[in-house]
Amino acid sequence: MPDSPSGIRSAVEFLRADVLVAFPTETVYGLGADARSDTAVARVFAAKGRPTFNPLIVHVADFDMAEEIAFFPPPARRLAEALWPGPLTLVLGKRRDAGLSDLATSGLDTVALRIPAHDLAGQLLREFGGPLAAPSANPSGAVSPTRADHVLDGLGGRISAVLDGGACQVGLESTIIGFDGDTGILLRPGGLDLGVIETVLGAPLDTRALRHVNAPGQLLSHYAPRAGLRLEATGPGPAEVWLGFGPIAALRPGLNLSPSGDLVEAAANLFAFLREADTIATRTGVTRIAVAPVPMTGLGLAINDRL
Ligand code: AMP
Ligand code: MG
Repeated sequence: MPDSPSGIRSAVEFLRADVLVAFPTETVYGLGADARSDTAVARVFAAKGRPTFNPLIVHVADFDMAEEIAFFPPPARRLAEALWPGPLTLVLGKRRDAGLSDLATSGLDTVALRIPAHDLAGQLLREFGGPLAAPSANPSGAVSPTRADHVLDGLGGRISAVLDGGACQVGLESTIIGFDGDTGILLRPGGLDLGVIETVLGAPLDTRALRHVNAPGQLLSHYAPRAGLRLEATGPGPAEVWLGFGPIAALRPGLNLSPSGDLVEAAANLFAFLREADTIATRTGVTRIAVAPVPMTGLGLAINDRL
């Protein structure tokens, strides 16, 4: 799709219909989905063939949109004011009414936010008028794309459109910073120099987290229910909440991730239904959630990984 007003308009129409659109940012090309839609976000994981669900970076048009989604403690606000738009992602407490898909944040109470410094990305976000969840636009395990033709090489046939903005200027993923009180914590090194961040903060970053793990994705967990899970269950026991999958399991009382056995639907429902099952468990005084088997194919790999 050419870089033109009509290109942006059709991209926005796709996004409003929960269809994926790849777009350029200054870091790498992102695979964009409406961050408020579980279905759209599930399609991201399906298109990338990701074997696990990790929380995605949510892209916004401006600081107002960011503040509708997350709380900014003073050091985060200083970083945002000084370095956004730019290759800096901030992990912040999520507002209750942020309206984000639980799948976009892996059910966490935090959200990773950034304003990309790229004209086309900015135009797309403003026209869309909402947040876009966008991991790099490549199949899982492949190198991040920095040109539109890289995106098509990897994901052609699996996505509906790519906005062509030429080559990405930074070509490296964003630097990710979290906070513990007033201390900035480096969660992932990336395209923004740490010295620049430390100058704005007026204090050194805490880099300890990086020394304990190999991959940044391992730094965080995802939503974990209080009730225990019993997997591969054929039905609920007397003191269990049922979380089914597929047509046979749909006959049992309880929740069902996808009565028709659709893995995209199941992925879209996963975190919200785990929360709901947990709430039911607490309310009814049971301590376990029995989960039906989910096949180990396609998105089933990521669903089973999270379970
Ligand atoms: P990407 O694949 O570029 O969208 O980057 C996603 C990465 O952002 C994850 O693997 C995490 O390292 C980080 N991330 C996203 N959300 C959070 C969060 N709520 N807390 C901590 N790190 C996060
Ligand atoms: Mg990537």
